[in-house]
Amino acid sequence: VVRFAEPLATFVLYAKVIDLIEAALGKIDALLSIAPLPQQAPTGEPAHFEVNFVDVSFAYAGSERPTLRDFSAVLPAHGLTALVGPSGAGKSTVARLLMRHADPQAGRILIGGVNIRSLPPERLNALVSVVFQDVYLFDDSILANIRMARPEASDEEVEAAARAAHCHTFIQRLPEGYRTRVGDIGGRLSGGERQRISIARAILKDAPIVILDEPTAALDTESEVAVQAAIDTLVRERTVIVIAHRLSTIAAADQILVIDDGQVLETGRHAELLARAGRYARMWQAQQRAKDWHVGA
Ligand code: ATP
Repeated sequence: VVRFAEPLATFVLYAKVIDLIEAALGKIDALLSIAPLPQQAPTGEPAHFEVNFVDVSFAYAGSERPTLRDFSAVLPAHGLTALVGPSGAGKSTVARLLMRHADPQAGRILIGGVNIRSLPPERLNALVSVVFQDVYLFDDSILANIRMARPEASDEEVEAAARAAHCHTFIQRLPEGYRTRVGDIGGRLSGGERQRISIARAILKDAPIVILDEPTAALDTESEVAVQAAIDTLVRERTVIVIAHRLSTIAAADQILVIDDGQVLETGRHAELLARAGRYARMWQAQQRAKDWHVGA
């Protein structure tokens, strides 16, 4: 019985492993077989880099509630637009639709007057950079980590981008400067330093539109000031959209969109919205009372 049971158990184990492998392969297959979003006939190049959301409505697949409802906004070129609002309001979804991770069911998204559905994917990718909150740094030199944004960039161009993103000083302090391997210092980079490396990548890539997901974690004052200065550099020449959590960014924004439940509730500058004494003013007062300043976090 024992002699019989052992091969049986082994067989059952193998069968389970094969099931798991098949399930995993099925998932990979499903991912790979996702059809690319259809592209409309090209209608030309954007004349400028203002971004327009026109009556956009969007629901995630399988979701009954729309995440964005008749969402309209003009995001000015050479300007900083801060998206603020409670968790789940739809801020990240606005960014995802602009990158065409999905298409809205109704409405249009335009860059410089051109519907993004008619832009070839590689063109859209060249027009939009994303600075993520959780920056992924791979185990190579700091130089290589910044250069990945534009592999043909020279060392001088990488350094110029790092200076513009207020990274140069802390990189120089590392044991081997730009040649320091991330794996050797891993945890020693603060959240603010990692975010600035990501901003350096965006500056090097030089896309005219940048989406920045600001860190929700508190930064120390020095990092806060440096990240703000890096954002200011981006804004000088670009359309910048920040999913904002920090008062310093929000107060300096050219435009704040207060989003709740997939709609724009209020639009204006910080002082205008405070004077309106509406939703933004209430959020701001509540956050002022909280020790850690997070709008919508
Ligand atoms: P946070 O500040 O917490 O990041 P947010 O304002 O960025 O929130 P979104 O991430 O845009 O909000 O999400 C808006 C709504 O859409 C939420 O209710 C969320 O649960 C839902 N949602 C987000 N991603 C998906 C998805 N892939 N599938 C289904 N629903 C989703």
